[in-house]
Amino acid sequence: MARIPEELIDSIRSQADIVDVVSDYVTLRKAGKNYKGLCPFHDEKTPSFSVNPERQIYHCFGCGKGGNVFSFLMEHENVTFVEAVRHIARRLNITIPDTYRQREAGSEAESLAQVTRFAARFFHERLLNAGRDSIVRRYTERRGLSEETVKSFGLGYAPDSWNDLLNAARNQGIDAALLVKAGLAKTGEQRTYDAFRKRLIFPIQAPSGRVVGFGGRALSDEDQPKYLNSSESPIYRKSQVLYGLYQARDALRQRGRVLVVEGYMDLLGLYEQGIHGAVALCGTALTREQARLLARYGQQAFLVYDSDQAGVRATWRAIEPLVESGLWTRIVRLPEDYDPDSYVREHGPDGFMKLVDSADSIADFMGHHANLQGSGDREEVFRTLTELIRKTTNLVHRETYREEAERRFPALQGLLASELRSPGAVQRDRRAPRAEGAPDGDAMVERDLVQLMLDGRAIAELVENQLEPRDFKHPLYRRIVELCFARLGGEGTYDLSGLIDTIGDDEAARMMTELINASDSGVNLEQRARDHIIRIKQKRLKESMARLMEQIKQMEKGGRSDELNDAMATYMELKQQEKVLLQSARGD
Ligand SMILES: [Zn+2]
Repeated sequence: MARIPEELIDSIRSQADIVDVVSDYVTLRKAGKNYKGLCPFHDEKTPSFSVNPERQIYHCFGCGKGGNVFSFLMEHENVTFVEAVRHIARRLNITIPDTYRQREAGSEAESLAQVTRFAARFFHERLLNAGRDSIVRRYTERRGLSEETVKSFGLGYAPDSWNDLLNAARNQGIDAALLVKAGLAKTGEQRTYDAFRKRLIFPIQAPSGRVVGFGGRALSDEDQPKYLNSSESPIYRKSQVLYGLYQARDALRQRGRVLVVEGYMDLLGLYEQGIHGAVALCGTALTREQARLLARYGQQAFLVYDSDQAGVRATWRAIEPLVESGLWTRIVRLPEDYDPDSYVREHGPDGFMKLVDSADSIADFMGHHANLQGSGDREEVFRTLTELIRKTTNLVHRETYREEAERRFPALQGLLASELRSPGAVQRDRRAPRAEGAPDGDAMVERDLVQLMLDGRAIAELVENQLEPRDFKHPLYRRIVELCFARLGGEGTYDLSGLIDTIGDDEAARMMTELINASDSGVNLEQRARDHIIRIKQKRLKESMARLMEQIKQMEKGGRSDELNDAMATYMELKQQEKVLLQSARGD
């Protein structure tokens, strides 16, 4: 089984820009030399996730996760190391020769990713090649979908056939069972058949752009259901994906405002009119995970749901996760009998954005749609509102929500104020405990020395000449030292980002990124390293001498004089070593 050569991996890693890659998933802001953002690996509302462009590493001060560009992708996209390397290579237009393909080594996720990629391309080509008067082209024409939109979203066509995709896949050597697993085929009593037939296909992409699932819209009214979604698979978790997020990323970063719509066609209709900062739910209620995902890209969420009963119910349910994720939340009220697509087509993008600008507050929305006749219902609304405001951690948002609620429901005045003053009103971010307790003096020396070793080759070589891994007491530091030494002797370049690739256990990687992020660099690095080395050596000498002295005492009791003489000689030797060591420390 061929492996990707170390030099190629080094070259790919050194050309990658971690800020660029991480920015696909996290909105980063410059903070000094580093970039900061909300951690994608734990739930937080104030940024503790830091990316260091100089070192090409990331580290989270909240949950402790850290690593390089490859580990980020492995962790975030749940892919193998090889997949992560390939992903970066593709971004950089670096070709990895086919001889290094690891066909048999592919994980299930890798195989599924290949199948969905194949299917997406297959459906897309079917649409591009469909004749002008085909049923799918007549449909895209009627819905006003331009060629540009078709291509940006990779829209596709599943023809009216039971085995069009299955046959094409078989010709490519793709197993039907994989298509079933990916939700693209179904197994009946007699045979396996294509799940999507006679439908316009919407490939559902992860924030990285990778296709993970599919939605399909029926092309004729008699076909049911109108919308069909591929089932969940190891790479497709509906609660964690938002349709259109990949295409909306830039717009969201620029404007910080995200429109949340219900359906694929709502989103495409808006996109067609130049409104690019929208995402759509793929036939599910908005989940907490989706809200948190959005909070990484924008600060304000505008819910744009249909004005029918189902739409109002869905809006009601979507408010809480959005507020909880820290997004400033507004509700766009469409006039009756409109959906976002029909409204923007009739009133144009400016007309639509006017509607967005005059969006309802949460209190207004609830006041408008709740049945406030009975006092029980009123209480219910008050309780819901109070609870929402209580859950808002952003103090400015909180105050504004409260004012709006009191304006809409004067009866809430005073009540809210006292409710919100009660204990536990503001939930603080829970920080994960540090990876270790506060280090004592010796551990501090080891820690600082390891930090310096990670800083550059020269110091690592200095340490290698003077110490051995076992001179380090802390097991994690010892492990890192071992890795550093191995890297010094290996073929790869000696840098932190490269070191991280050689680590099996990620606790060491976390420690490495934590150390580097905590490093103050400063001056006289080499002198500092020399001082630490001497201190560690001295410490180990003292330990050896103490052990030896114990033995000597035992020997004196036992009266074994020849052994005693040897031991005394060794002791004097150690004493001499210590003297030399201290002289060199003073620079004598
Ligand atoms: Zn974190």
